[in-house]
Amino acid sequence: MMIVHEAIDDFRRALDHTRSSGSSVGLVPTMGALHDGHMSLIERASRECDQVAVTIFVNPLQFGDVSDITSYPRTLAADLDRCAASGVAVVLAPSVEEMYPGWPELPSTTVSVGGLGDEWEGRSRPGHFDGVATVVAKLFSIAGRCRAYFGEKDFQQLALVRRMAADLGMPVEVVGCPTVRDRDGVALSSRNVRLTPEQRRAATVLPRALAAGTAAVASGHVRPDEVSAIMSAVVERQPLARLDYAVAVDAATLEVPSRISDIAGTRLLVAALIGTVRLIDNCAASVGPLVERELVGSDGGVGDGAVQAHGRMLATVGAGAATAGRAGAATAVRTGGESTDPNRWTWTQESG
Ligand code: AMP
Repeated sequence: MMIVHEAIDDFRRALDHTRSSGSSVGLVPTMGALHDGHMSLIERASRECDQVAVTIFVNPLQFGDVSDITSYPRTLAADLDRCAASGVAVVLAPSVEEMYPGWPELPSTTVSVGGLGDEWEGRSRPGHFDGVATVVAKLFSIAGRCRAYFGEKDFQQLALVRRMAADLGMPVEVVGCPTVRDRDGVALSSRNVRLTPEQRRAATVLPRALAAGTAAVASGHVRPDEVSAIMSAVVERQPLARLDYAVAVDAATLEVPSRISDIAGTRLLVAALIGTVRLIDNCAASVGPLVERELVGSDGGVGDGAVQAHGRMLATVGAGAATAGRAGAATAVRTGGESTDPNRWTWTQESG
């Protein structure tokens, strides 16, 4: 039977009890509005740990924009149903006052990871990563020794949390999990529900930009600025999208390298506003004349594994669309020739 705690102390005691009886704990921190992406973390935690603990908390410290937090979807009853159905043992769903006594006064102690959080999301959302690091540090401190599961969907966040846990010697093993995508390639996100149907269709521009970038890297583009321009061009052609950034970075440092190589591991990152909804996505890219390669595969040491898209996404490189994806896969297919013109990439859904 699943137990839901609102009090931090009760949750802490429950996990202490689990460990003292010899069982391991898998922690899945979330902000609720659970979708199949969150559920994939819960399923992985269930496979690898004796008991799964989920936290559901919309963390005000990580929202710069008041309208973003007030419009953030909240579906606690449905979330708890999904957790219970997945065999989750214990949930922490605290109030803001429980997490931050004295709120709206800010906590005196905050955590800042520096370096890794300066660029990309950090630059576009000042204070965001300090809010993330502070709440995750607090959750780790409450939960104690565990494995903690995070999505590669938020790649910079994953890198930051890993660094924080290592720097502060926390007894937490951070596990990165592949991005779960919708059939058209769009990464699942709690924010997608705020898109109109037309905007939701426009959101495919993010995975399409990544597919174009992956193809460019695979076909020999080694200059990050060229790959960035190829991805940006895809986003900029979509009138409903406003590009924030589209970059090729070193997967470990998240810095733009002077040259793309497989030695460092490369990650493509993209962020865009669709209407008022800010969406992010990313994938790995590898150099080399492969005929067929997974769009998101090697992790460059930060994530671990291939993307799961209710199937698999493949970037197909070669003459025509000769190599199609596996059955059920959302597939990026270049529709002709050897050009890396992003216009010639389309997302298709293989039947079966
Ligand atoms: P959030 O509730 O948005 O804070 O996300 C909670 C956790 O779920 C984070 O570790 C996210 O990276 C992860 N997550 C969100 N969307 C996805 C997705 N589409 N696939 C895999 N993990 C995800």
